[in-house]
Amino acid sequence: MTAAARAALVTGGASGIGRATVARLVAEGWQVVLADLNAENGERTAAELGADVRFVRADVSEEADVAGAVGACVAEFGRIDCVVNNAGVGGAFGALTDIAVADWDYTFAVLVRSVFLGIKHGARAMQAAGRGGSIVNTASVAAFSGGAGPQAYSAAKAAVLNLGRVAAAELAGDRIRVNTVCPGLIVTPLIGPDLETARAVMRQAQPWPDLGTPEDVAEVIAFLAGDAARFVTGEEITVDGGLRAA
Ligand code: NAD
Repeated sequence: MTAAARAALVTGGASGIGRATVARLVAEGWQVVLADLNAENGERTAAELGADVRFVRADVSEEADVAGAVGACVAEFGRIDCVVNNAGVGGAFGALTDIAVADWDYTFAVLVRSVFLGIKHGARAMQAAGRGGSIVNTASVAAFSGGAGPQAYSAAKAAVLNLGRVAAAELAGDRIRVNTVCPGLIVTPLIGPDLETARAVMRQAQPWPDLGTPEDVAEVIAFLAGDAARFVTGEEITVDGGLRAA
């Protein structure tokens, strides 16, 4: 892969960590398809981030949409070298004794089925091209602990960790690397506008004295996406100011 000719698909690229990842990859010379459910934010973000970014509206829980977004990357840029499976929602909140099956299923569809579909269709396209590639999934520190997040969300993110390991083993022979980032508390619309509560949680649980930014996570995703990480696969990297270790 030459630095000037790499192309990536980033899901959930209209906001937060996804948007910062698109910006970081473009700064490194990547061409990027930004896929998101939110067309207004997606169109605006793509326009703001420049000529090397295209927006595709996609619901990542829908197979046809994910296959279409992968196809759009190949059609627009002639190749796909990386898929960043990042789109996410908080999902079902509440105790396991209260969560409705439909809310549980929705959480898993957006957080887990989406990653499976991004791997399935991204890897197929990479296999067809025969150049290898990389896949980066966004899990969460919540994946490691029952207490770190809402129950359905934590369980879904734990599934994303395992999917990453399974996919890394399956796809290594095709030189397709699969890695996972596990953000801690990152200031994005996902955690809501109440930063005082976020800071209170941070002071209690996180050793590092600042809240994380989308750019902090995007740096690690960009590293895992590119050739500097050529021997890194099946790995999980937390970006959490020491939250998990504490
Ligand atoms: P965000 O809300 O800023 O961005 C999420 C994006 O995903 C939005 O643009 C949204 O429109 C899109 N999206 C939601 N459902 C979708 C769907 N079905 N199809 C396509 N797009 C969809 O949130 P963020 O904090 O940037 O989250 C990005 C990822 O990071 C998520 O997977 C999230 O679970 C994970 N994460 C975030 C934090 C945090 O503290 N912010 C911590 C750990 C993990």
